[in-house]
Amino acid sequence: SLKPSITLVASANEAKQAAQTFDTKAIQKLDSAHYLHPFTDFKDLNEKGARVMVKGDGIYLWDSEGKKVLDGMSGLWCVNVGYGRSSISEAVYQQMEVLPFYNSFFNTTNVPAVQLAAKLVEISPPQFNHVFFTGSGSEGNDTNLRMVRRYWDLLGYTDRHVIISRHNAYHGSTVAGASLGGMGGMHAQGGLPIPGIEHIGQPNYFEAGRGKTEAEFGIEAASWLEQKILEVGPEKVAAFIGEPVQGAGGVIIPPATYWPEIQRICDKYGILLIADEVICGFGRLGTWFGSELMGIKPDLMTFAKGVTSGYIPLGGVMVGDRVANVLIEKGGDFNHGFTYSGHPVACAAALENIRILQDEKIVEKVATETGPYLKQQFATLATHPLVGFADSCGLVAGLNLVKEKAELVHNCVLFDAEQNVGMICRGYMFGNGMIMRAVGDRMIIAPPLCISVQQIDEMIGLIRSCLDKTLADLQ
Ligand code: PLP
Repeated sequence: SLKPSITLVASANEAKQAAQTFDTKAIQKLDSAHYLHPFTDFKDLNEKGARVMVKGDGIYLWDSEGKKVLDGMSGLWCVNVGYGRSSISEAVYQQMEVLPFYNSFFNTTNVPAVQLAAKLVEISPPQFNHVFFTGSGSEGNDTNLRMVRRYWDLLGYTDRHVIISRHNAYHGSTVAGASLGGMGGMHAQGGLPIPGIEHIGQPNYFEAGRGKTEAEFGIEAASWLEQKILEVGPEKVAAFIGEPVQGAGGVIIPPATYWPEIQRICDKYGILLIADEVICGFGRLGTWFGSELMGIKPDLMTFAKGVTSGYIPLGGVMVGDRVANVLIEKGGDFNHGFTYSGHPVACAAALENIRILQDEKIVEKVATETGPYLKQQFATLATHPLVGFADSCGLVAGLNLVKEKAELVHNCVLFDAEQNVGMICRGYMFGNGMIMRAVGDRMIIAPPLCISVQQIDEMIGLIRSCLDKTLADLQ
C-alpha cells in the first residue's frame, strides 16, 4: 500500500543537526502519489520529483540532501524576519497552550486579535483605525471586493460595483482574487474574470516606455486609469486596486510620477483606492507600507505574508475611516468572515514578528542601509553582458536578460520567448546555492529583510555566477 507507516524523516531534533538523514526518494514518491501542489504541472513534477526543503535559518535554507541555499525570495515574499526565530515559535506555543482557537463571530473576541488590531493601527498610516482579519491575502482581496461594493450600496450608489485593476497583477487565487488579478494563465482556467472587474496596462517602463522619460511614462500609464473610468462610466466605478510595486508580475517598479497621478484621478472621480500590500507591507520597500513610499493615501490596504513573516497563515484588510465609518454607522450585519479571522495563534505570531521588526529596526535598516546597498550592488550587475535593465526598490529587485544590450534600454534586443532564457538562468540558481525567480526573462529577488550587507555581497556574487553560466550556455 502507498499509505505509509514508515518514518519518512528523522526526529525534528536530529533533522536540525543533519538534514541528510531524510529519505528524499521516499518523500518524493509519496509527494508524487498524493500531493497536488499549487501552480504546478502535476505530471511534470511527478517525473522530476519535488525538492524537499527541511530546514531554515536566517536567510538560508537546506534541502533533504543537505544542500544549503541562500533564499533570495524569502520563501514566497514573506519570511521578512528570516527563518529560525525561536521567539515566534515560543509565542505560538504559549498561545496554543492557553487558547489555541476561538472565533470572532457572534460578538466574541480574543486577546491577541485585539492587541494585533491595535498594533496594526499604530504602525499603519493615520487614516487606518480598523482591521478586518482573514487567513490569507486572497481572502483579504475577496474581502475588499465585498466591502467596497457594500460601502457604495450603503451610500445608495448600487450601480457603483466595478473594480479596476491591472494586467499581470497578482491579487490571489480565490475566484475574486484571481479575477482582480490580471494573469492571463489564471483567467484562461475556470471562466475568469468574474463580471464587474476591468484591467488596464501595468506601468512597465522597460516594456512600454519607448520614446519617453520615466516621468512622462508614469503619467501616461496613470492616464490609462482615467480612460478606463470614462469608458466604464465614473458612476459605475467603485475602486481601483494595485500593488505599490507589482511583485509576482515581475517586480514592476513604477516611475515616481505614477502613484500620485493615480491618487489624483481616484480623488477626481471619488473612487476608492485599494493598495494591495501583501508583498510591500511590513518593510519590504523600507517603509512599513509601500503606500507611504509612493505618497498615496489608500482607503483600504490588503496585507498578509510579512505580517507573520509566513510563520503562520494570516491576512487581512486595513480599513480606512472613510469606509469604516459608513460600515459602522449605516451597515448593520456585514455578512462576511472566515473561521480563522482573528485566529489567536496567528495573531500571537504576528505580534512577536512585529516586535522583532520594531526592536531590530529592520524597516529603518532597509531604508537606510540594506536597501541602498542592494541598489548600488544591483547596478553593478547591469554591466553584465546579459543584463539590459536592472532596478530595485528597498529589498525587492529585478533584472532583464537581453540578447543584445543598448545604452537606451528600449533599444535592447530581446530573446525569443521560446528560448526560455529566464528558465535557463533559474535552472542554474539552485545548484549554485541561490533561490531567485524568473518571470519571463526578468530575474527577480526579494530576500529576507534581515539580510546583512555582507550577505548581499554573497547574494550578488551568486547571481553573477549564474548569469555567467547562462551566458556560457547560450554561446
Ligand atoms: N496579493 C499579492 C500582491 C500577492 O503577492 C499575493 C500572493 O503572492 C496575494 C495577494 C495572495 O496571497 P495568498 O497567497 O496569501 O492568498
